[in-house]
Parts: sequence; C-alpha cells; structure tokens
Amino acid sequence: MHPLTIRSVTTRAVEVPLRRPLATKIGTFTTTPFLLIDLHTEEGVTGRSYLFGYRPNGARLLATVLEEIEVMVKGRPCTPATLYDDLVRGLNLYGPQGIAFQAISGFDMAAWDACARAAGLPLAAFLGGTPGPVRAYNSNGLGLMAPDAVAAQAVELLDGGFRAMKIRFGRDHVDGDVAAFEAVREAIPDDCLLMSDFNQGLSRREALRRLPVLDDLGLVWFEEPVAYADLDGCRELRETVATPIQIGENFYGPTDLQAAVDADAADFVMPDAQRIGGVTGWMRAAAIAHEADLPISTHLFPEVSSHLMRVTPGAHWLEYVEWASPFLAEPLVVRDGHAQVTTAPGTGIEWNEDAVRSLAA
Ligand SMILES: [Mg+2]
Repeated sequence: MHPLTIRSVTTRAVEVPLRRPLATKIGTFTTTPFLLIDLHTEEGVTGRSYLFGYRPNGARLLATVLEEIEVMVKGRPCTPATLYDDLVRGLNLYGPQGIAFQAISGFDMAAWDACARAAGLPLAAFLGGTPGPVRAYNSNGLGLMAPDAVAAQAVELLDGGFRAMKIRFGRDHVDGDVAAFEAVREAIPDDCLLMSDFNQGLSRREALRRLPVLDDLGLVWFEEPVAYADLDGCRELRETVATPIQIGENFYGPTDLQAAVDADAADFVMPDAQRIGGVTGWMRAAAIAHEADLPISTHLFPEVSSHLMRVTPGAHWLEYVEWASPFLAEPLVVRDGHAQVTTAPGTGIEWNEDAVRSLAA
C-alpha cells in the first residue's frame, strides 16, 4: 500500500450550545467553540478531526497554526508518526506546549483517520486492535449547582445505561460539596460510581484541608485538586488521602506524563487527545503509563479516544461527553454504559454539513 499524499488541510469554526451548561471551578461553559479539520489527499481520501477552541477566539488561533502546518506537509506522504516528529521540531520555536502543540495534535488525529480510512479499517483495527465496547462514565453535567439540581441531572445522566458519572467539586465551602454529593448519591443506584473533579480549583493548603473531609465518600478519584503543574502538591495529597489522585488532561505530550511519573504525582492519569499529541502522542504516553503501572483514562474526544482505549494496556475509563454530537453525522453510540467502537473505517468522524453550516462561527 502506497502512503497517501497530502493535498491540503482546511478548517472551519463552529460554536455549539451545550444541552447542559456546565459550571466548573475553572469557568462556566454554555457554548463550546470547535475547530473542524479536514485533511484532503491526492487519492481522494479525507481525514477528519476536531479541536476544542475553549475561548471565543480559540478556534481562530488554532486555525492559524494549522495554516502553517499545511505549508509544512503539503505534497508529503501522509505518514502520521513521521510528520508528528517533523512538526514538533518545525514548530519548536513557538514552544513545546500551548496552541502550536494542540494544532499538531489535531492534525495528527486527522492524519491517522485518513490512513485508517484508506486501509478500510476502523482506527482501533488499523492500530492493531479490534473494535468493540469501551467502558465509559458520563461527564455531561453535574457542575457546581445546588444539591437538588445536581441530583435531578444525575438521574438524567443514567440514560445510556451509564453506571458511572463525574461530579464537579470546589464550592465555597466543603460542606456544599458534601451536600451535592449526598443528594446525587441518594438519587442514583447504589452500584453507580462517582468520580470527582476540582478543575484545579484549590490551593495546596486548601486541598490538604478539604480532601480528608471527602476521603470517605467512596469516590473513584479526586481529579485535579490543585494547579495542574503542581506535581509536588499532588504527591503530598496522595500521601494524605486514600482516594486516588487523578491528573493528566493538561499534560502536553508524553514528556509531561513522564514528569508526573517521576514526581509520583498521580495514582491515575487521563491524557487529553488535543494536548497529549493526538494518536501518536497518546500511543507513546500510554506506553509510559503502562510501564509505570498507572491506569489510564481519557479526557474529552470520546470519538477518537474510544478507538485508542481498544489498544491501550491499562485502559481505565473513557470520559463521555456529547458536545461534538450536534455537528457529527454519526454521533458516538453508548450502550449499557459502554461506547461502541464500530467497524466503520477511520475514527467514524463525518460532518453533518447542515449542522456545520448552521453552527458556523
Ligand atoms: Mg477535569
């Protein structure tokens, strides 16, 4: 099989209203900007991916880097791992993190999608695995709301057969978090698991005070209790509480995961496809996590991440969010609490063009 040849990389920005606006310690989200990426090849195969813009102009910022990436890859074979290394080297002067690396991740996901499509295989199979179910938790809500509101939403989030969901913590007083937890716990079946996320909302001192209060609630994990780069703080918290400390959505590339391993900063890790380096970065990061015996979960991007989990040793939990579904022709299906990786070629990302037009930003 000859590699595909890259003809162009095009992008479009959309703004998607969230069905359930989400209040977290790091910000309240009512809509989400996305950048949609199309990688066109001379052979007629198109690879697709999307990135989160996060802020109103975020998609535009990412798009400008992807214009530069197009200049660097146009006319070259679509060989994702090689291109990843070349792009990291080529954009190195912008720094190894941030917008430039996020754009590389988006390009990388589209490039792998194109290759898998050309082979007629789902990405999971192209990477040497099999399609099938991936255990998921519902992350579509349970923001910083009053106990009755959060409990009502928890019941909705059971839809799809979910038996795990994530609650956001970091209210003004820890008692508020306990009250929200108890309301949710009472509203959902006993066998339903709960993860928790502080979205980096606590100072180290505050975390050392609060986490012990929440330690006996039976939570699957405490996610990002303190600033993401505070690896020493995470280690100190691990030594203080029994509930596992989960970090990783802000790792930039496999190197950051290695740094967390070296610092003994985490019980669990959960890289984000947009920051870990797309498919290529994920595979390298997953190898590090496996060697360190760290269970690995995903952050956002359930469409691509579900494929990755099928080839990830130590695969722990898929974070399910429905936020991209409005502009996808075939949104990811969840049944019995498991995302279904199907036999469709590539990652399964196809645009709903009518929706893309009406959501254009
Ligand atoms: Mg988080």
